[in-house]
Amino acid sequence: LLAEDGSVAVTIFAEMSALAVRTGAINLGQGFPDVDGPEYVKRAAIQAIEAGRNQYAPGDGVPELRHAVAEHQKRHYGLDVDPDTEVLVTTGATEALTASVLALTRPGDEVLTLEPFYDSHAAAIGMSGATHVTAPLVPGPDGFRLDVEALRAAATDRLRMILLNSPHNPTGTVLTRDELAAVAAVAREHDAIVVTDEVYEHLTFGAEHVPVATLPGMAERTLTISSSGKTFSFTGWKVGWLHGPAALVTAVRTVKQYLTYTSGAPFQPAIAQALADDDTPRALAASLAERRDLLCAGLETAGFTVTRPAGTYFVMADASAVLARLGLRDGVELCRRLPELAGVVAIPASAFCRPGSPTAQALANHVRFTFVKSESVLRDAATRLAGLGV
Ligand code: PMP
Ligand code: GLN
Repeated sequence: LLAEDGSVAVTIFAEMSALAVRTGAINLGQGFPDVDGPEYVKRAAIQAIEAGRNQYAPGDGVPELRHAVAEHQKRHYGLDVDPDTEVLVTTGATEALTASVLALTRPGDEVLTLEPFYDSHAAAIGMSGATHVTAPLVPGPDGFRLDVEALRAAATDRLRMILLNSPHNPTGTVLTRDELAAVAAVAREHDAIVVTDEVYEHLTFGAEHVPVATLPGMAERTLTISSSGKTFSFTGWKVGWLHGPAALVTAVRTVKQYLTYTSGAPFQPAIAQALADDDTPRALAASLAERRDLLCAGLETAGFTVTRPAGTYFVMADASAVLARLGLRDGVELCRRLPELAGVVAIPASAFCRPGSPTAQALANHVRFTFVKSESVLRDAATRLAGLGV
């Protein structure tokens, strides 16, 4: 977490958003929507504030949100979840992830993630002192796919946890039932816990999201994490949750007590209401699919080779041809120069890899763009990128 010179590292998202503000560039780096979620959810939070729900919420979350999470999991996936013992409300998915890793691993344990990976997954493993091992997602005609052989090879008898993420940031991959079955088999064989980050569960474009907890023998060893930020376009509210076997949830709650104690009280009843609403996420996914197509077409016109994502806010683009045209070294250099060259901010794929790893090298020319922006913003960005180096 410290840079080589001893200074405190800033996340790539903070660095790139600051660059966008400084240069006035269009920010297709950090993934957050430029349109808020529904008015009725905002009003529910305002009403909760006015009704005086402004002191500490219960440590495991307000009852109506825990019940709403359990009902949501039953309605969408057929999962039976006890809202009183098997759900924990957290300060975003980020806290759920970090608290899970801190609660359930110790130095010497191995935690396996996909690579590339969402940055806080690696940071959580770093803070716990566990050892981070990875299995690559490899680009091909069907998108970035899990290298199942590498997954099996990466699992040793020190494997304690598999930290999964599907739909996957940054590749936009939605893991198939077969890929998940391979992960589940490794978890069972090594008696490992699975912690699965499913914050983009509703943001898929035709692909089926399969929660790993629904696979045979997995509910008893899986903690499932999600968040209202992505599903309802309230990323700043930081209302997340996890559910799983009571013993595991109790361990995570114990850590959460000393991280945040409880999470923001008035937002929780508002999100409990939202969780009963399937129309809002469905409409968001449909509109995101159109915006994905718009940005992918713009990137292709500009000379990028895109891997079309099946879910999330993000598309990965291979910038090799653009780099050659501009005489630039790699995706990191392109992202540093992109505000000045095109007035656009993006994130290099290597930020989602272990420094110097084979995956970091394979994806050195890849760049991640977000399409969770208004169509007019995406059209403007596409026009700007089309002028790159021509
Ligand atoms: N996991 C993934 C894969 C993400 O992309 C993000 C960022 N939005 C998070 C977790 C963090 O979610 P939250 O804002 O709810 O902490
Ligand atoms: N999840 C968003 C992204 O991947 C934002 C994350 C953040 O700012 N930490 O861009």
